[in-house]
Amino acid sequence: MNTKITRRRFIKKVAALSAALAGVNFIRTSLKSDASTAITRSKEALHYEQIDETTVKCVLCPNECVLKNGQRSFCRVREPKNGKLYSLVYETPCSVHVDPIEKKPIYHMFPGSKAFSIATVGCNLRCKFCQNWQISQEYPESAANRHLPCKSVVDLALKNNCRSIAYTYSEPTVFYEYMLETAGIAREKGVKNIWVTGGFINPKPLRRLCSVIDAANIDFKGMSDKYLRETCGERLKPLLSTIKLTKEMGVWVELTNLVVPTLNDDPAMIKDMCAWIKENLGADTPLHFSRFWPMYQLKNLPPTPLDTLKNAKAIAEMAGLNYVYIGNVPESATGNTACPYCKKIVVKRTGYFVLSNHIINSKCGFCGQKIAGVWD
Ligand code: SF4
Repeated sequence: MNTKITRRRFIKKVAALSAALAGVNFIRTSLKSDASTAITRSKEALHYEQIDETTVKCVLCPNECVLKNGQRSFCRVREPKNGKLYSLVYETPCSVHVDPIEKKPIYHMFPGSKAFSIATVGCNLRCKFCQNWQISQEYPESAANRHLPCKSVVDLALKNNCRSIAYTYSEPTVFYEYMLETAGIAREKGVKNIWVTGGFINPKPLRRLCSVIDAANIDFKGMSDKYLRETCGERLKPLLSTIKLTKEMGVWVELTNLVVPTLNDDPAMIKDMCAWIKENLGADTPLHFSRFWPMYQLKNLPPTPLDTLKNAKAIAEMAGLNYVYIGNVPESATGNTACPYCKKIVVKRTGYFVLSNHIINSKCGFCGQKIAGVWD
């Protein structure tokens, strides 16, 4: 595709997207709901072990919760009953939106297209900076959920001209059964699937998920087990294993690093992370440095200075990564995709919008070299 957008078309595009948003955003966040309106639907979980008649062990993520009948899981959305483990958020999203695919962020698959985006409540992590804590740290019984069957998600995606479905906002790993089934139907209908995740999942369920997922944006929060444990309730080894395995399974992988002042902005840590990415995933793996805003339990810290983000980008480029972006900042030039060979801008963006696209048959429209990604 070789397109350049005019001002008029750009305004029309924004208006069309706004209209789509108005039609589909039936819930923006998990508004508190009383017991009479709260909807929960359960389905037997896919990855667990029965220990005895009253106890199960969930093996979906490395937390591996051991739960007695009636005991709620760490992620708040799983519970055993009569010796069987159930997901309590099956087909009951709390958030449904039509988003630009750039918002995920995924920059190297169908730029400028729309992603039908869903989330349920719940999360298996405890990030102190969470931007969606109102839903990620909520119980299904307290959220304004709606019943939206897997097939209806795909139908709505098609109706809204979305080329992909994104499982996003909270942590989709905890609504695994809903995501897996929806993604299977979407794939049959030619709709791509995007997993936006913290990457805290065990290898067996991950392999199964990768059989239906096309692209993933995985949070690579930092090359430090201490930082991940203390700030996110995560661990480095399983995260690295998820990133590597997802790539090996043929999923298109982009990574996001939220740069938090004083906590993970040490240039040496950023350098280590970039070296690991290049060695284990290759130079063509897109890396998005994202600006931190004071949020949730880290309101005491300032927003990431722009110079810190620019320095992180320079470190990544010095390490040999070909596609490095800065997100969450007003500057438009930070989201452009440049050809690594001739250095010309092949995809020009402002915010979440694509202004021009010079990728033709997966190649740079200027010099003809291949640009890594999933293109038309
Ligand atoms: S997915 Fe939830 S229930 Fe399962 S191990 Fe992880 S935190 Fe525990």
